[in-house]
Amino acid sequence: MTIFGDLLEELRKTHLGVNIHSIHNIPSDQMLSPVEERLAELGIPYDEVIYFTPTEDEEHNTVYGQHICAAGATSFFLKDGTANSTIFMNGNIGKLTNTEDSELENILKYIFLIHEIGHAEDFNKQINFHHTTRKVDLVSAEAYADIFTLKHLKSSKNPAMKLARKYYCKNILANTASNEFYKAVFTKVKKSFLESKVREWARA
Ligand SMILES: [Zn+2]
Repeated sequence: MTIFGDLLEELRKTHLGVNIHSIHNIPSDQMLSPVEERLAELGIPYDEVIYFTPTEDEEHNTVYGQHICAAGATSFFLKDGTANSTIFMNGNIGKLTNTEDSELENILKYIFLIHEIGHAEDFNKQINFHHTTRKVDLVSAEAYADIFTLKHLKSSKNPAMKLARKYYCKNILANTASNEFYKAVFTKVKKSFLESKVREWARA
């Protein structure tokens, strides 16, 4: 195994202590298929998929209720009265980034899985995902997941985290440069992490 191969395996087991039903790797083309289909395919019993609608007119980044980033998506469902979150990771992330470097692929899987775990924690704590109204504040939810990820990558004593942080910060800056939604997200992220810090980490 490799450093990030091991870290990824550990992360999939512990999910940083956040309560998550399950984590799955699925092919790229299934990332956009209905949640019901994905759960059925995986044999996960559920009573109802929980869909959230955006609080504002922010439909750019969501297919109701599941938060879609190219690398991962977190979906929510009810079973026997319990609200669960399940994470789908894009199993073809290497293609997405045009890399054949399997350790780089592990790094990307690692950072984007932390990001999705951040969404699950947000859902569990009902901070930006409101269970009673089934509304989500998308910009704040995305910022929550970014801040969750950066906090984790910053706090870890493992020196390899610098590399993970570099890729994550590069990704934040790339998103921000090209997209109004992510600009709004970054404005919120900057309340926790200075832009100069994010830029410095992206260069490290
Ligand atoms: Zn996200």
